[in-house]
Amino acid sequence: MVKIENIEELRNIKESNYGFVIIITHTKSIIHNTDCKLIFEQDFLKDGNNDSKYHWFSTYSLAEKELGDIKSCKLCNP
Ligand SMILES: [Zn+2]
Repeated sequence: MVKIENIEELRNIKESNYGFVIIITHTKSIIHNTDCKLIFEQDFLKDGNNDSKYHWFSTYSLAEKELGDIKSCKLCNP
């Protein structure tokens, strides 16, 4: 699990099109393809990542192994 530290990192990840972005809230963990339109840079900029919502994983199975119950985004459906 790699915490995404800043907006530049988030942009690099989105452009790299490699791995997955997981957004963790207190109720659920949603996994997205890196190019998903539901990963809003504005939200990231507004909230920052102090509460560790945004993470990157290289593979789906790694994310599943570490986080347990993850849900696939309904839009990008990884
Ligand atoms: Zn998505």
